[in-house]
Amino acid sequence: MVYKETMTSKQRVMNALSRKPVDRTPIANPTNVATVELMDMVDAPFPQACQDPELAARLAATGYTELGFDSITPYFSIIQESSALGCEMQWEEKDNWPTVRMYNQIWKSADDVKVPTDFLEHRDVKAITESIRILKQEYGDEVAIIGKTMGPWTLAYHVFGVEQFLLGTVDNPEETMKAMDKLKEISILFGEAQIEAGADALTFPDHATGDLVSGEYYKRFLQDLHSEMVDELPVPLILHICGRTIDRMPYIAQTGMASFHFDSKNDPQEAMDAVDDGIGLVGNINNPETLYARGPDEVRQEVYKCLEAGVQMIAPECAIPLATKIENLIEIPRAVKDWTAERKG
Ligand SMILES: [Zn+2]
Repeated sequence: MVYKETMTSKQRVMNALSRKPVDRTPIANPTNVATVELMDMVDAPFPQACQDPELAARLAATGYTELGFDSITPYFSIIQESSALGCEMQWEEKDNWPTVRMYNQIWKSADDVKVPTDFLEHRDVKAITESIRILKQEYGDEVAIIGKTMGPWTLAYHVFGVEQFLLGTVDNPEETMKAMDKLKEISILFGEAQIEAGADALTFPDHATGDLVSGEYYKRFLQDLHSEMVDELPVPLILHICGRTIDRMPYIAQTGMASFHFDSKNDPQEAMDAVDDGIGLVGNINNPETLYARGPDEVRQEVYKCLEAGVQMIAPECAIPLATKIENLIEIPRAVKDWTAERKG
């Protein structure tokens, strides 16, 4: 049981993202790991922690200081850009996610898409960029700071409405492409601002999820666009898509992105086979059943399953439920360390 860690958390994550050797598999959080318990611990509750950079930084840091993950991620939700674009918000309380109200959408067609000139100055955009600046200064040498910028497909759900947008992909795919082309400028603008602030990597959620669209849809509307993001945003990108995504993984593997954050609806070995070394994987500990409702033993089993399959970074599959127990989250790094000790000790 004597293996020695020879890397900082940051080196570990950055190496895993470029698929270079690591002293042990890093535990990352491409999406939220904050909980109500952690909010209370550092007095940084939702929704204020989604609006104020100091609170966002303080809450995000607990992912490293309390949970022992190798990265820090201060963008907890998926609504920051949409709020800055003028979508109507439901901010909720600390036990619930802020959301975009799904009626009365702000835009109807691609022609309506306009980025406000003061977008980067909006409170909910600065909450992210400024929190990255704070975290970079405090933890930048030791921990990987992961930012997040929404892809155009996710933005489209918010600004056009999910149903209207998806119907449009059938009725008028050219219009869809035109909208994607304009919306991606927001993804780039916000991504660049976070890189400038000090983000080491960016999560790129683009919810072409398994239950809503097919793998062919991914290829047709998003594969090239995601490749383009690799050229536009000069840090490792972590694509996040929920649900069953095996059918699109071979396409995702060709985008040039560094990593794919995958859902527990995909078996780790099956996913490793599907991407065939074209892209790294990060995931995929189940949220609603394992992390939320079960205990450390079940968490450990899932961590081991990912490690046995060779998954490059271990993480919850998606943003964790806010009532997740801390003991289940700290079991993830524990399990990774024990597994490594058994093999290297
Ligand atoms: Zn997700």
